[in-house]
Amino acid sequence: MGGFSFLCLGSGSSGNCFYFQNSEGAFLIDAGIGIRKLVKYFTEYGISFSNIKAVFLTHDHIDHIRSAYSLATKYNLPIYATEGVWRGIDVNPVICQKIPVAMRNIIRKNEAINFLGWELTPFTVPHDSNDNVGYFIAYNDVRIAHVTDDGSMTDEIDSFIEKANHLIIESNYDEDMLRTGPYPYPLKKRISSLNGHLSNHEATETICRHCKHLSHVWLCHISANNNTPQKALNEVMSGLKRNKINESDYPEIVPLNRTSPTGFFNLSK
Ligand SMILES: [Zn+2]
Ligand SMILES: [Zn+2]
Repeated sequence: MGGFSFLCLGSGSSGNCFYFQNSEGAFLIDAGIGIRKLVKYFTEYGISFSNIKAVFLTHDHIDHIRSAYSLATKYNLPIYATEGVWRGIDVNPVICQKIPVAMRNIIRKNEAINFLGWELTPFTVPHDSNDNVGYFIAYNDVRIAHVTDDGSMTDEIDSFIEKANHLIIESNYDEDMLRTGPYPYPLKKRISSLNGHLSNHEATETICRHCKHLSHVWLCHISANNNTPQKALNEVMSGLKRNKINESDYPEIVPLNRTSPTGFFNLSK
């Protein structure tokens, strides 16, 4: 049975966008990269707009929705989000242009969406946006959980990761770098709160709980100020050792680039 491939076009506070493609068609998760840059990347990677059937949003922060309006109006792509995310977009003062009602689609948490062989299930991820979802994505035997802008781990998130054989998870900040870094105290508090972002340590503990059934893990939304890709990777590797995980059960761990595409990853079971 065929798998699918994905490409991360950017991940972090400068803009988030993931492209998923199977033999029947493709979709995006988030549209946080400016439209000109996105079009340039699509050209570079041979991605045609006619292949993309939908855009699924996680939440209503600008680094996830920046080009949603252009994708809906210039490229005719239907946009999917929860009612809570749509409400958040409508009151977001940074977003002046409102996505036409005809291009808006409402998704509900824990209700699977089926199209072109894909099955996508949104689920709750705690964050300080109006609403936020993770996505459990299945195609044939390949199952990946996408969890970003995650203030804290919950049993519900764990239950979706439990069913996955691949994982994209936020590893936003190194706890020491955030504590000793230049951010003002209220912002530090916001980031580390239960509705903020996930630390390297929290991501590591999650990966260790699930590593037996995960073959690949991509670390996303890595902070430019409070983290480095190497620190995020080191924390996971030392967590695997600390938890005495058998080396044969180590997933492949890949930190994702913040501001440039990573190249295609091809996933089979
Ligand atoms: Zn974000
Ligand atoms: Zn956010």
